[in-house]
Amino acid sequence: MNLCSERDLRPLLERHGFRFSKSMGQNFLIDPEIPAAIADASGADKSGGVLEIGPGVGALTAELSKRAGKVVSVELDRALLPVLAETMRGLENVEIVQGDALKLDLSALAAEKFDGLTPTVCANLPYNITSPILEKLILTPCFQSVTVLVQKEVAERLAAPEGSGDGGSFALFLRYYMVPEIALEVSREKFLPRPKVDSALLRCVRRAAPAVDVPDEAYFFRVVRGAFLLRRKTIVNSLAAALPELPKEVIRDAVRARGLPETVRGERLTLRDFAELSRRLRAAET
Ligand code: SAM
Repeated sequence: MNLCSERDLRPLLERHGFRFSKSMGQNFLIDPEIPAAIADASGADKSGGVLEIGPGVGALTAELSKRAGKVVSVELDRALLPVLAETMRGLENVEIVQGDALKLDLSALAAEKFDGLTPTVCANLPYNITSPILEKLILTPCFQSVTVLVQKEVAERLAAPEGSGDGGSFALFLRYYMVPEIALEVSREKFLPRPKVDSALLRCVRRAAPAVDVPDEAYFFRVVRGAFLLRRKTIVNSLAAALPELPKEVIRDAVRARGLPETVRGERLTLRDFAELSRRLRAAET
Protein backbone atom coordinates (compact mmCIF):
# COMPACT_ATOMS: atom_id res chain seq x y z
CA MET A 1 0.00 0.00 0.00
CA ASN A 2 1.25 3.49 -0.84
CA LEU A 3 0.49 5.59 2.25
CA CYS A 4 0.91 8.79 0.25
CA SER A 5 -1.41 7.90 -2.60
CA GLU A 6 -4.86 9.44 -2.31
CA ARG A 7 -6.20 6.40 -4.19
CA ASP A 8 -4.94 4.02 -1.48
CA LEU A 9 -5.51 6.38 1.43
CA ARG A 10 -9.20 7.15 0.96
CA PRO A 11 -10.41 3.48 0.96
CA LEU A 12 -8.10 2.70 3.92
CA LEU A 13 -9.55 5.55 5.98
CA GLU A 14 -13.10 4.73 4.89
CA ARG A 15 -12.70 1.07 5.87
CA HIS A 16 -11.74 2.26 9.38
CA GLY A 17 -14.53 4.83 9.52
CA PHE A 18 -11.97 7.61 10.00
CA ARG A 19 -12.93 11.28 9.72
CA PHE A 20 -10.37 14.10 9.54
CA SER A 21 -10.32 16.36 12.58
CA LYS A 22 -9.44 20.00 12.07
CA SER A 23 -8.93 20.57 15.78
CA MET A 24 -6.22 17.88 15.80
CA GLY A 25 -4.50 19.51 12.81
CA GLN A 26 -4.91 16.43 10.63
CA ASN A 27 -3.40 17.15 7.21
CA PHE A 28 -1.68 14.05 5.87
CA LEU A 29 1.16 14.09 3.34
CA ILE A 30 0.15 12.71 -0.06
CA ASP A 31 3.41 12.99 -2.02
CA PRO A 32 5.75 10.05 -1.26
CA GLU A 33 8.82 12.14 -1.97
CA ILE A 34 8.10 14.50 0.93
CA PRO A 35 8.20 12.02 3.87
CA ALA A 36 11.43 10.58 2.41
CA ALA A 37 12.95 14.07 2.09
CA ILE A 38 11.89 14.97 5.66
CA ALA A 39 13.39 11.75 7.05
CA ASP A 40 16.62 12.42 5.12
CA ALA A 41 16.82 16.01 6.38
CA SER A 42 16.32 14.82 9.98
CA GLY A 43 19.65 12.99 9.76
CA ALA A 44 18.07 9.87 11.31
CA ASP A 45 20.39 6.87 11.34
CA LYS A 46 20.72 3.52 13.12
CA SER A 47 22.41 5.11 16.14
CA GLY A 48 19.37 7.29 16.81
CA GLY A 49 15.95 6.99 18.41
CA VAL A 50 13.39 9.24 16.73
CA LEU A 51 10.37 10.61 18.54
CA GLU A 52 7.61 11.42 16.08
CA ILE A 53 4.61 13.50 17.11
CA GLY A 54 1.41 12.66 15.26
CA PRO A 55 2.11 9.76 12.87
CA GLY A 56 -1.31 10.01 11.20
CA VAL A 57 -1.43 6.90 8.97
CA GLY A 58 2.34 6.48 9.23
CA ALA A 59 3.75 7.87 5.96
CA LEU A 60 6.66 9.66 7.66
CA THR A 61 6.92 6.92 10.32
CA ALA A 62 7.67 4.31 7.65
CA GLU A 63 10.46 6.44 6.15
CA LEU A 64 11.97 7.10 9.59
CA SER A 65 11.77 3.38 10.35
CA LYS A 66 14.02 2.65 7.34
CA ARG A 67 16.72 4.99 8.63
CA ALA A 68 16.56 5.07 12.46
CA GLY A 69 17.46 2.58 15.16
CA LYS A 70 14.00 3.03 16.68
CA VAL A 71 10.94 5.19 16.10
CA VAL A 72 8.43 6.04 18.82
CA SER A 73 5.36 7.84 17.50
CA VAL A 74 2.93 9.59 19.84
CA GLU A 75 -0.59 9.85 18.41
CA LEU A 76 -3.43 11.65 20.16
CA ASP A 77 -6.31 10.38 18.01
CA ARG A 78 -7.45 6.91 19.15
CA ALA A 79 -9.29 6.49 15.84
CA LEU A 80 -5.90 6.22 14.10
CA LEU A 81 -4.64 3.34 16.26
CA PRO A 82 -6.32 0.52 14.24
CA VAL A 83 -5.19 2.21 11.02
CA LEU A 84 -1.59 2.34 12.28
CA ALA A 85 -1.79 -1.27 13.50
CA GLU A 86 -2.46 -2.17 9.86
CA THR A 87 -0.04 0.19 8.11
CA MET A 88 2.88 -0.32 10.51
CA ARG A 89 2.59 -4.12 10.59
CA GLY A 90 6.01 -5.73 10.17
CA LEU A 91 7.99 -2.57 11.05
CA GLU A 92 9.79 -4.03 14.05
CA ASN A 93 11.52 -0.81 15.15
CA VAL A 94 8.30 1.27 15.31
CA GLU A 95 6.29 1.72 18.49
CA ILE A 96 3.06 3.69 18.64
CA VAL A 97 2.17 5.39 21.93
CA GLN A 98 -1.32 6.80 22.35
CA GLY A 99 -1.26 10.13 24.16
CA ASP A 100 -1.07 13.89 24.07
CA ALA A 101 2.48 14.99 23.28
CA LEU A 102 1.82 18.22 25.18
CA LYS A 103 1.08 16.32 28.38
CA LEU A 104 3.48 13.37 28.22
CA ASP A 105 6.83 13.46 29.99
CA LEU A 106 8.91 13.28 26.79
CA SER A 107 12.22 13.12 28.62
CA ALA A 108 11.07 10.04 30.54
CA LEU A 109 9.62 8.53 27.35
CA ALA A 110 12.93 8.97 25.50
CA ALA A 111 14.90 7.52 28.45
CA GLU A 112 12.58 4.51 28.58
CA LYS A 113 12.40 3.78 24.85
CA PHE A 114 15.76 4.88 23.43
CA ASP A 115 18.26 3.04 25.61
CA GLY A 116 21.72 3.53 24.06
CA LEU A 117 20.34 5.57 21.13
CA THR A 118 20.67 9.32 20.54
CA PRO A 119 17.21 10.89 20.87
CA THR A 120 15.96 13.26 18.17
CA VAL A 121 12.54 14.52 17.05
CA CYS A 122 11.05 14.45 13.57
CA ALA A 123 7.42 15.33 12.87
CA ASN A 124 4.84 16.89 10.61
CA LEU A 125 3.34 18.94 13.44
CA PRO A 126 -0.34 19.71 13.86
CA TYR A 127 -0.52 23.48 13.21
CA ASN A 128 -2.54 24.26 16.31
CA ILE A 129 0.11 23.10 18.79
CA THR A 130 3.25 24.36 17.02
CA SER A 131 4.37 26.89 19.66
CA PRO A 132 3.70 24.94 22.87
CA ILE A 133 5.15 21.69 21.52
CA LEU A 134 8.22 23.43 20.10
CA GLU A 135 8.78 25.16 23.43
CA LYS A 136 8.53 21.81 25.20
CA LEU A 137 10.94 20.12 22.77
CA ILE A 138 13.47 22.95 23.05
CA LEU A 139 13.34 22.62 26.85
CA THR A 140 13.87 18.83 26.73
CA PRO A 141 17.68 18.71 26.51
CA CYS A 142 17.98 15.03 25.53
CA PHE A 143 16.73 15.82 22.00
CA GLN A 144 19.84 16.57 19.96
CA SER A 145 17.87 17.84 17.00
CA VAL A 146 14.27 18.76 16.24
CA THR A 147 13.14 18.58 12.60
CA VAL A 148 9.56 19.72 12.15
CA LEU A 149 7.25 20.61 9.31
CA VAL A 150 5.38 23.78 10.28
CA GLN A 151 3.54 26.66 8.64
CA LYS A 152 5.96 28.38 6.25
CA GLU A 153 5.63 31.84 7.82
CA VAL A 154 6.34 30.38 11.26
CA ALA A 155 9.46 28.60 9.97
CA GLU A 156 10.66 31.81 8.30
CA ARG A 157 10.21 33.82 11.48
CA LEU A 158 11.96 31.20 13.61
CA ALA A 159 14.89 30.82 11.21
CA ALA A 160 15.30 34.58 10.66
CA PRO A 161 18.84 35.75 11.50
CA GLU A 162 19.14 37.53 14.85
CA GLY A 163 18.63 41.25 14.58
CA SER A 164 17.25 40.99 11.03
CA GLY A 165 13.95 42.54 12.04
CA ASP A 166 11.92 39.42 11.17
CA GLY A 167 12.17 37.43 14.40
CA GLY A 168 10.50 37.73 17.78
CA SER A 169 11.15 36.64 21.35
CA PHE A 170 10.33 32.99 20.56
CA ALA A 171 12.90 32.98 17.71
CA LEU A 172 15.53 34.24 20.17
CA PHE A 173 14.49 31.64 22.75
CA LEU A 174 14.94 28.93 20.09
CA ARG A 175 18.27 30.33 18.91
CA TYR A 176 19.58 30.49 22.48
CA TYR A 177 19.41 26.68 22.66
CA MET A 178 19.55 25.58 19.02
CA VAL A 179 20.70 26.50 15.52
CA PRO A 180 17.69 26.65 13.19
CA GLU A 181 17.52 26.49 9.40
CA ILE A 182 14.88 25.90 6.76
CA ALA A 183 15.59 22.59 5.06
CA LEU A 184 12.67 22.26 2.64
CA GLU A 185 9.52 24.01 1.46
CA VAL A 186 6.32 22.03 1.00
CA SER A 187 3.36 23.47 -0.86
CA ARG A 188 -0.21 23.10 0.39
CA GLU A 189 -1.10 20.77 -2.51
CA LYS A 190 0.96 18.01 -0.90
CA PHE A 191 -1.56 17.49 1.93
CA LEU A 192 -4.94 15.84 2.36
CA PRO A 193 -7.10 17.73 3.20
CA ARG A 194 -5.39 20.75 1.64
CA PRO A 195 -4.61 23.46 4.24
CA LYS A 196 -4.87 27.20 3.53
CA VAL A 197 -1.12 27.74 3.98
CA ASP A 198 2.18 26.37 2.69
CA SER A 199 4.65 24.59 4.97
CA ALA A 200 8.38 24.50 5.51
CA LEU A 201 10.69 22.08 7.27
CA LEU A 202 12.50 23.67 10.19
CA ARG A 203 15.62 21.80 11.24
CA CYS A 204 17.06 22.77 14.63
CA VAL A 205 20.29 21.33 16.00
CA ARG A 206 20.98 21.67 19.71
CA ARG A 207 24.05 23.69 20.68
CA ALA A 208 26.62 22.15 23.02
CA ALA A 209 26.03 25.18 25.28
CA PRO A 210 23.58 28.12 25.07
CA ALA A 211 24.49 30.75 22.48
CA VAL A 212 25.36 33.35 25.15
CA ASP A 213 26.54 33.12 28.72
CA VAL A 214 24.08 34.80 31.08
CA PRO A 215 24.28 34.86 34.90
CA ASP A 216 20.49 34.74 35.38
CA GLU A 217 18.59 32.91 32.63
CA ALA A 218 15.14 33.74 34.02
CA TYR A 219 15.94 37.47 34.10
CA PHE A 220 17.53 37.30 30.63
CA PHE A 221 14.33 35.85 29.14
CA ARG A 222 12.23 38.35 31.08
CA VAL A 223 14.15 41.10 29.27
CA VAL A 224 13.90 39.33 25.87
CA ARG A 225 10.12 38.88 26.23
CA GLY A 226 9.75 42.39 27.65
CA ALA A 227 11.44 43.88 24.58
CA PHE A 228 8.56 42.57 22.46
CA LEU A 229 5.76 43.27 24.92
CA LEU A 230 4.56 46.37 23.08
CA ARG A 231 4.40 45.70 19.35
CA ARG A 232 6.01 48.34 17.12
CA LYS A 233 7.31 50.30 20.09
CA THR A 234 10.93 51.12 20.85
CA ILE A 235 12.73 48.76 23.16
CA VAL A 236 12.95 51.54 25.78
CA ASN A 237 9.16 51.95 25.88
CA SER A 238 8.48 48.24 25.74
CA LEU A 239 10.96 47.43 28.52
CA ALA A 240 9.65 50.31 30.63
CA ALA A 241 6.23 48.60 30.52
CA ALA A 242 7.67 45.13 31.14
CA LEU A 243 10.01 46.13 33.98
CA PRO A 244 7.98 48.68 35.94
CA GLU A 245 10.41 48.49 38.86
CA LEU A 246 13.09 50.23 36.76
CA PRO A 247 13.01 53.98 35.94
CA LYS A 248 12.82 54.57 32.18
CA GLU A 249 16.04 56.57 32.34
CA VAL A 250 17.94 53.51 33.59
CA ILE A 251 16.63 51.48 30.64
CA ARG A 252 17.56 54.25 28.21
CA ASP A 253 21.10 54.43 29.66
CA ALA A 254 21.55 50.65 29.40
CA VAL A 255 20.44 50.68 25.75
CA ARG A 256 22.83 53.54 24.96
CA ALA A 257 25.67 51.89 26.88
CA ARG A 258 25.33 48.87 24.61
CA GLY A 259 25.91 51.24 21.67
CA LEU A 260 22.33 51.01 20.43
CA PRO A 261 20.15 53.97 19.41
CA GLU A 262 17.40 54.57 21.95
CA THR A 263 14.82 54.38 19.14
CA VAL A 264 15.81 50.78 18.35
CA ARG A 265 13.15 48.04 18.43
CA GLY A 266 13.54 44.59 19.96
CA GLU A 267 13.66 42.76 16.62
CA ARG A 268 16.96 44.50 15.76
CA LEU A 269 18.84 43.12 18.77
CA THR A 270 21.01 40.00 18.79
CA LEU A 271 21.29 37.52 21.66
CA ARG A 272 24.60 39.18 22.58
CA ASP A 273 22.85 42.56 22.78
CA PHE A 274 20.21 41.06 25.06
CA ALA A 275 22.82 39.32 27.23
CA GLU A 276 24.64 42.62 27.79
CA LEU A 277 21.44 44.62 28.26
CA SER A 278 20.00 42.17 30.80
CA ARG A 279 23.32 42.16 32.69
CA ARG A 280 23.19 45.98 32.99
CA LEU A 281 19.50 46.07 33.92
CA ARG A 282 19.88 43.34 36.50
CA ALA A 283 22.82 45.20 38.05
CA ALA A 284 20.67 48.35 38.23
CA GLU A 285 17.96 46.42 40.10
CA THR A 286 20.23 45.21 42.87
N1 SAM B 1 2.60 12.42 10.21
C1 SAM B 1 1.41 12.41 9.37
C2 SAM B 1 1.76 12.92 7.99
O1 SAM B 1 2.80 13.56 7.87
O2 SAM B 1 1.01 12.68 7.07
C3 SAM B 1 0.28 13.22 10.00
C4 SAM B 1 0.62 14.66 10.37
S1 SAM B 1 -0.79 15.62 10.84
C5 SAM B 1 -0.25 17.23 10.35
C6 SAM B 1 -0.67 15.78 12.61
C7 SAM B 1 -0.91 14.51 13.42
O3 SAM B 1 -0.75 14.84 14.81
C8 SAM B 1 -2.30 13.89 13.31
O4 SAM B 1 -2.18 12.50 13.18
C9 SAM B 1 -2.99 14.24 14.65
O5 SAM B 1 -3.98 13.32 15.03
C10 SAM B 1 -1.79 14.24 15.59
N2 SAM B 1 -1.93 15.07 16.81
C11 SAM B 1 -2.63 16.23 16.97
N3 SAM B 1 -2.47 16.72 18.21
C12 SAM B 1 -1.61 15.86 18.85
C13 SAM B 1 -1.06 15.82 20.18
N4 SAM B 1 -1.34 16.78 21.07
N5 SAM B 1 -0.24 14.80 20.50
C14 SAM B 1 0.06 13.82 19.61
N6 SAM B 1 -0.45 13.80 18.34
C15 SAM B 1 -1.26 14.82 17.97
